[in-house]
Amino acid sequence: MEQLIMCYLGEVALKGLNKSTFEAQLIKTIKQRIKNLGQFKIYKAQSTIYVQPEDEFSDVDAAFEKIKKIFGISSVSKAAVTEKDFDKICRVAPEYLRDTLQRARTFKVSAKRSDKSFPMGSPEISRQLGAVLLRAFPHLKVNVNNPDVNVMVEIRDFGAYIHEAKQPGAGGMPVSSSGKGALMLSGGIDSPVAGYMMAKRGMSIIGVHFASPPYTGERARQKVITLCEKLTDYTGDINLFIVPFTASQEYIRDHGVRELFTILMRRSMMRITQRLAAKFGAGAIITGESLGQVASQTLAAITATNASVDMPIFRPVIGMDKTEITEIARKIDTFETSILPYEDCCTIFTPPHPKTKPSLEEVLAAEQSMGMDALLKLEKEAAEKAEKLRINVQ
Ligand code: ATP
Ligand code: MG
Repeated sequence: MEQLIMCYLGEVALKGLNKSTFEAQLIKTIKQRIKNLGQFKIYKAQSTIYVQPEDEFSDVDAAFEKIKKIFGISSVSKAAVTEKDFDKICRVAPEYLRDTLQRARTFKVSAKRSDKSFPMGSPEISRQLGAVLLRAFPHLKVNVNNPDVNVMVEIRDFGAYIHEAKQPGAGGMPVSSSGKGALMLSGGIDSPVAGYMMAKRGMSIIGVHFASPPYTGERARQKVITLCEKLTDYTGDINLFIVPFTASQEYIRDHGVRELFTILMRRSMMRITQRLAAKFGAGAIITGESLGQVASQTLAAITATNASVDMPIFRPVIGMDKTEITEIARKIDTFETSILPYEDCCTIFTPPHPKTKPSLEEVLAAEQSMGMDALLKLEKEAAEKAEKLRINVQ
């Protein structure tokens, strides 16, 4: 029996976008995300993208799970395909849905005929196929309002498709439809979630991670790579930049105002991230900051951080508490990796009593007294020396 995946695009995501560009982008995305799962033919027709295995080695079930995570697809179904012949439909439906129907108590048939040359109308298809299924599974009862199983039959241009109720897709906007953002990725719980949320709005992502060897180690670095690998399910391939931050950070420690260390360091990270973003085509910075969570995330601290760069900074988890963020982190499977206890560069050199409400004036004054030319030079070098890793879809 021939089986394929149907991806329904939904009108919401189409708003304001050029439909054919959007569809072409989605086809490219699907191709990339399932490339390790076998050979598939991917094509579109009637506002639906079809993903059809080309041989028996192609893993349709695994592809289905991957496709459910692709933004821009509103719902999905795994369907049996047959010719547009009612007798064939009546043979394929009970066979394809046998396990499900055996476990169910109630069902209904919903037919949809978009090919109007098909000789039977939708109500008639539903009624007659319903009767066939009742004969094949005598324990079943029809329930039109709240069935255990909704058997759907779609008569379309190229064939008849039989499947259970559509499952929700990832929703959101297709990747790349909203430009590119530079995600500051720490290894903690919040930043991968922030990346996921902006990807959902159609941003493609580059990752920027600050490492301060020897204060931070290889395992911290590996942790960020693993987080990126997990994110690729939602973002596609990611270019990850690992920035050697030690020299800048030591400079700030040695020359900066101690109570302002964290904010001075965060401004430095922002400037470096902006350099990399500009160089690699990103138009925004993304962080996992959540208002009031720590000293560097008060309104005053955020004001001072923002003023270090011109690019917009997106903080999609700013209004969420840790429980809400954690829930998403579990859903996207980054949580267990994020809680591994390795040192982040943000937690080294931090003063015992950081200022929680630094005014921008005092921060700027602290930068002036520290000798910004030397620091900016170190930042430029750090951006240039950043190691670029290509993290591919798993
Ligand atoms: P997270 O859970 O993402 O680590 P956090 O609650 O620990 O966030 P901070 O450590 O203050 O908060 O960091 C705030 C944000 O700054 C992070 O969400 C991340 O976007 C960015 N950031 C922090 N450390 C790094 C780093 N080493 N490399 C890149 N970005 C970082
Ligand atoms: Mg952190």
